[in-house]
Amino acid sequence: MSAPLRPTWCEIDLGAIAHNVRQLRHLIGPAVAIYMCLKGDASGCGAAEVARRAEAEGVDGFAFGNIDSALACRAAGIKRPILLYPTCLPDSAPLLEQAELMPTLSTLGDVVLWDRAARHRLPVFLKIDGGGFRAGAFPHEAAAMARAITDSRHLRLAGVYGHPMTSYGFDDEPYTLAQLDAIKRALAAIEAEGIEVPIRMTSSSAIVLGHPNADLNAVDPGRLVVGMSFQSVAKRHASWKPALVGLKSRLVMVRALAPTDDLVRAPFLRLRPNMRLGLIPFGWSDGYPKSMPPNATALIRGRRVPLLGPSHSELLRVDLTDVPDAQVGDEVVLLGRSGDVAIQIEELAEQWRMSTHELFPAIGKTLPRRYID
Ligand SMILES: *Cc1c(COP(=O)(O)O)cnc(C)c1O
Repeated sequence: MSAPLRPTWCEIDLGAIAHNVRQLRHLIGPAVAIYMCLKGDASGCGAAEVARRAEAEGVDGFAFGNIDSALACRAAGIKRPILLYPTCLPDSAPLLEQAELMPTLSTLGDVVLWDRAARHRLPVFLKIDGGGFRAGAFPHEAAAMARAITDSRHLRLAGVYGHPMTSYGFDDEPYTLAQLDAIKRALAAIEAEGIEVPIRMTSSSAIVLGHPNADLNAVDPGRLVVGMSFQSVAKRHASWKPALVGLKSRLVMVRALAPTDDLVRAPFLRLRPNMRLGLIPFGWSDGYPKSMPPNATALIRGRRVPLLGPSHSELLRVDLTDVPDAQVGDEVVLLGRSGDVAIQIEELAEQWRMSTHELFPAIGKTLPRRYID
């Protein structure tokens, strides 16, 4: 495939992924498996590239919310086990067997459908609903579900996992603890039946960092590994590096606004003496805020310049008055470094009035990505 011609891109630092995997490994120790969650195309960082780097760094498996994304990763050569969260249909069973992807089952009805659809002996995960009321068997159903899977003709129990709801703004510690307790009760009930559960996990990013005793024998954080920040207990403090390190474009137009009486007065533009305007091919279609942030700036030739609203679908105006040497093709930095100045992810998030958690997927979804290491 030829490189994209569009001169706007984001930059993903795979070295940050490797660093974060090592930090995580150090915190949880060698005996706990890492099933890195790559939902949302690894939060906009690109699942296949992130998986390749994480696999090289010793991640034990991956988890996806999107079967297409998981298949693309297999096609890209990812070898480790892959778990699919409950986001595909039993019809896909033959394809899953072929690509070695493991689906999630939540109900006895699921066991019947998947057992009928599978041809060989498909490894599956049983999900426990610890009180989030999404997918998963409730604790009192867990042992019977696990038994139905082990008794089936075409399924094999590869693991059991839960996913306590956190980071939805509840900040309700008793609720988190109750969910963890429910998941552990379900596991105990399964094991009391003498059923072996190879992989047992319930730790997304917030749980890994906030509840070290929930590690079980595997964890499945995602956003933490791409470098989003979470609260952590002292025992789980570490330095995490954001993998999203750049958002850049190039000037596709530069023009001087000659002072003539002939110019229409636009209600949004305050004309300055010797004003120069530039354009970059980036706008709200690619995640830029639709309502122009009042303090929006970018960096050109090591200098900070204002962006001038309104923002457009695929264009933004840059005020180049203070950078008279700016030319078509010059790099315009919205996130990252230009000479001695830099815009960090926290500053960009503040300009866009988003959290850094929202910024990752907002930026990575449509733009071409360039990987650095
Ligand atoms: C999304 C998800 C995770 C990972 O969550 P992060 O907050 O990105 O760490 C883990 N487990 C399950 C079941 C999930 O759906």
